[in-house]
Amino acid sequence: MTDRGPSPADWPGDWNVERLHADHSQALRITAEFYDSATEHQRLRVFENPTFGRIMTLDGVVQVTEADNFIYHEMMTHVPIFAHGAVRRVLIVGGGDGGMAREVLKHRDIEQVTMVEIDGTVVDFCKSHLPGISAGAFDDPRLDLVIADGADFMRQNADVYDVIIVDSTDPVGPGEVLFTDTFYGHAKARLAPGGILVTQNGVPFLQGAELTNTMRAFTALFADATCYLATIPTYAGGPMAFGWGTDGAARGVDLATLTERFAAAGFETDYYTPAVHLGAFALPPYVARLIG
Ligand code: SAM
Repeated sequence: MTDRGPSPADWPGDWNVERLHADHSQALRITAEFYDSATEHQRLRVFENPTFGRIMTLDGVVQVTEADNFIYHEMMTHVPIFAHGAVRRVLIVGGGDGGMAREVLKHRDIEQVTMVEIDGTVVDFCKSHLPGISAGAFDDPRLDLVIADGADFMRQNADVYDVIIVDSTDPVGPGEVLFTDTFYGHAKARLAPGGILVTQNGVPFLQGAELTNTMRAFTALFADATCYLATIPTYAGGPMAFGWGTDGAARGVDLATLTERFAAAGFETDYYTPAVHLGAFALPPYVARLIG
């Protein structure tokens, strides 16, 4: 026990202490450990926590939990897809746990989803130890899984997509290349007319510089560059930002149209609604200042 009160080292049982920032960590109690080993690219760990169920971390950072992944995956998929209104082809960069593909594939009109994930071990492991996250998405005939670096794929690939979702780790390690002007420029070139690019951009309160950097690049590339927010409990530090870039008019879609599209889609959600969609773009000043 330190004189500043208890610390994770004093707490009974095992704890996963994740450093969120130089001066800010979060600790999650481990009630069962399923895996902890290095893949070709990163350290993969899966453990159980009483509140969040099974949790996967990569290089010590929480990536996905059984309990709260619905918020992140619903908001990164249904917002651009319902805003666009006629999505047929989607590219997911990263997304190894399969949750992003799960939500995209709920849209029956979508014909083709390409998922480019650098680490095949993450996919294999999530299929067997976290099957509820992908919920069969990897067996969907519309899904084309490519094990490659998303930056290489974006540079070399000639296809175009209506929505591109960058569901990557943070800009450290293998994810770093996915936060560069070069990558964003290549992604823009892969968008069909009216296409939308959305990116995982961290928690602005702790990772504001990352969001500012992405928004600087998006502002130079797109007519409509902004971000939208959602709060995911295990991405601690406040609401998380999703970068949004498009030359189309998708953000202007109104509540009545979104409501019509959502009803026609015919599936249930636990976080996304047309009203939540529109509200997510209402940025508090501390976030608006970060995106300039
Ligand atoms: N929800 C998480 C978040 O917000 O940080 C992201 C989850 S998903 C598991 C992140 C995935 O990005 C991982 O499977 C990782 O292997 C993948 N990834 C990291 N760098 C990559 C790259 N350069 N190309 C493709 N996938 C990459």
